[in-house]
Amino acid sequence: MAQSTIISNTANLQKYLQLPQKGKVIAEYVWIDGSNGIRSKSKPSQTLFKKVESLKDLPEWNFDGSSTLQAPGDNSDVYLRPVAYYPDPFRQGDNVLVMCETYMSDGKPNAYNYRHDAAIIFEKHAEHDFWFGLEQEYTLLDEFGWPYGWPKNGFPAPQGPYYCGVGTGKVFCRDIVEAHYKACMYADINISGTNAEVMPAQWEYQVGPCPDISLGDQLWMSRFLLHRVAEEFGAKVTFAPKPIPGDWNGAGLHTNVSTKETRADGGMKAIEAAMEKLATRQKEHMSVYGEDNQLRMTGKHETASYDKFTWGVANRGSSVRIPRSVAADNKGYFEDRRPASNADPYQITAIIAETMYGKADGADIAKFNEKAEEVEQEMIVPVAKP
Ligand code: ADP
Ligand code: MN
Ligand code: MN
Ligand code: MN
Repeated sequence: MAQSTIISNTANLQKYLQLPQKGKVIAEYVWIDGSNGIRSKSKPSQTLFKKVESLKDLPEWNFDGSSTLQAPGDNSDVYLRPVAYYPDPFRQGDNVLVMCETYMSDGKPNAYNYRHDAAIIFEKHAEHDFWFGLEQEYTLLDEFGWPYGWPKNGFPAPQGPYYCGVGTGKVFCRDIVEAHYKACMYADINISGTNAEVMPAQWEYQVGPCPDISLGDQLWMSRFLLHRVAEEFGAKVTFAPKPIPGDWNGAGLHTNVSTKETRADGGMKAIEAAMEKLATRQKEHMSVYGEDNQLRMTGKHETASYDKFTWGVANRGSSVRIPRSVAADNKGYFEDRRPASNADPYQITAIIAETMYGKADGADIAKFNEKAEEVEQEMIVPVAKP
């Protein structure tokens, strides 16, 4: 019997992971549930006798949406439509992880499928060639829900030595961080760095720059990988924006943004134009920048006001920071510091693109649907329609 009830026995598992798969491929379908969480299940492999070479090799599938807060019990089938796949660092070989969108039986997107609308926006604004780089902060908790490595009934010494810290007592669970980094690399997630954060047991990694909708796909998959890796070490991952009240830093999802225009010579002008637009939609942006974000955005701990939009060069207390190097080069990207660590990257990136260059109208949606239908017709297993 496994010794711990919460830690996977990965040492014993090794033997089984080496067993040959007799030509079959395992596809782990991953999706976002109705509580901003992640679910997954693996595809019965008899349909997958070949290496996955395109999305067309991955059939549509379904699950019980009444068990994931995504559908009522009397209409519980929710459909999984693959949108991206990655090499599986756990099973390795030809096995894959599959990011999916969720749809209802009438063909409409599930209420929690924010990717659908985001994809329309990015199709509309393809000419601007958006790139996003997100800084995902998170906190590791022990089995009792207290930050990993903190004294059982108390607090560690005040913040100061922990950010980018090195050494016992300054950082906790570097093993998880390293394992996650390598797992992301193996999965072709464009992870671009990692560091220990200001609050002990809090960490950050960056994904990007990635174009358009692919940032959301990669960031969600990186979250799946983090939860999955942490399972093997018996730690819990929380993306709560203010896990510990008081003088402990919250966790954000700084969103770095550039377009063809901001990256071109003299691109500061396009950045300034973006700032003027962002300033008019503070409320709308905050409404999709994560739950409980008001607990984090207090104006303290390197955050700005929840209600008021501000921007500045090198200012970490403003809503948007223009890195000093960007101001010096007169081109580059800006950093929206408002999103909370638990925010949905599809929603963040889509509202930024929408605010900068406009909403999708009926014609955009019709064009998008037409294209989607062509793709569906080419799939091995067609998308379910009533
Ligand atoms: P910080 O100084 O805010 O901690 P980080 O180094 O953690 O910055 O993160 C910077 C992020 O900016 C990275 O995710 C990187 O991919 C992203 N980035 C860099 N250049 C661009 C660009 N031109 N467009 C979009 N994102 C970019
Ligand atoms: Mn950072
Ligand atoms: Mn950070
Ligand atoms: Mn940052």
